[in-house]
Amino acid sequence: MSRYWSPIVHKLTPYVPGEQPKSTNLVKLNTNENPYGPSPRVIAALQAAVGDTLRLYPDPGASALRETVARYHGLSADQVFVGNGSDEVLALVFQALLRHDAPLLFPDITYSFYPVYCRLYDIASETVPLTDAMAVDVDAYANRPCGGIILANPNAPTGIALPLPEIRRLLEQHPDQVVVIDEAYVDFGAESAIALIQEFPNVLVVQTLSKSRSLAGLRVGLAFGQQPLIEGLNRVKDSFNSYPIDRLALAGAIAAYEDEAYFQSTCKAVMSSRDWLTEQLETLGFRVLPSATNFIFVTHPEHDAAAVAAGLRTRNVIVRHFSLPRIAQYLRISIGTQEECAAVVEAMREVLAAVH
Ligand code: PMP
Repeated sequence: MSRYWSPIVHKLTPYVPGEQPKSTNLVKLNTNENPYGPSPRVIAALQAAVGDTLRLYPDPGASALRETVARYHGLSADQVFVGNGSDEVLALVFQALLRHDAPLLFPDITYSFYPVYCRLYDIASETVPLTDAMAVDVDAYANRPCGGIILANPNAPTGIALPLPEIRRLLEQHPDQVVVIDEAYVDFGAESAIALIQEFPNVLVVQTLSKSRSLAGLRVGLAFGQQPLIEGLNRVKDSFNSYPIDRLALAGAIAAYEDEAYFQSTCKAVMSSRDWLTEQLETLGFRVLPSATNFIFVTHPEHDAAAVAAGLRTRNVIVRHFSLPRIAQYLRISIGTQEECAAVVEAMREVLAAVH
């Protein structure tokens, strides 16, 4: 506490990121990073970008990246926005597109940054409960007065995806509000709402290169929408930091989109390890929610989740436990390499034998 703080800072409860431990001999499955490195073409592009031009500012409009990504998704470059990781893109979305005269709606269990941004930007919010099966309940959003809606799809930390017709129904329910779809994990088996952009002027899709493109360390996030929404984001960006993406990030991100084969094969490997780990944990008595992401959300009817997480940690495996009421008995386990997934199963067998 300080008397020099603004009234807003007094009210903030900041987001707590997952632990980034110093030790490297851990099976680190707590922050949904990609277990495979970025494409070798990304590394080569980064090496080529290191040089004399670093003394120059980067292109503030990130036009080469926007054109590459627009071509990839069949959009025009003015329908693409680039930011410093999707967390920053989301922050700009909250500032540029969400209203202050009506509450923002989001699920009661979702990415915990949304309520943090609401407090930071003084936006009221209301949560909408997930169904008993922990899925987003589109009907529960109908006829609710609101200033906008934000959903993670697939949702986090549940991993459950909403099919595209359900997103379409949500957009039809709320033609006068911006509906933000945060697709951080979409490439691991869900359908992207980018397909709905030409039809719906109120949808904004946010994606990241941190997960499926294995570039969490480079910090690149994207937003897709019709040009007026993108222009709103650019107005805030240019009033805040006109160079959010540095030259290295631009070069690396473009190269990531140019190696489709690597992208496809690493996503496939993650999804096949996810399905294997799901089966193995089900055999050990876990209930595993159906995941369209690079993590699984699991609970065991006979074992306390916090104790299991602690037991795994003593065996050098880190997973994520959230001490929130409805999900306190769940663990979120990121999908590692096949060897790491096998190590989880091994450690889990020991922990279940030891912990109750
Ligand atoms: N959205 C969701 C749902 C996430 O889980 C994350 C990762 N924590 C992000 C956005 C932010 O990802 P990044 O800032 O690395 O792009």
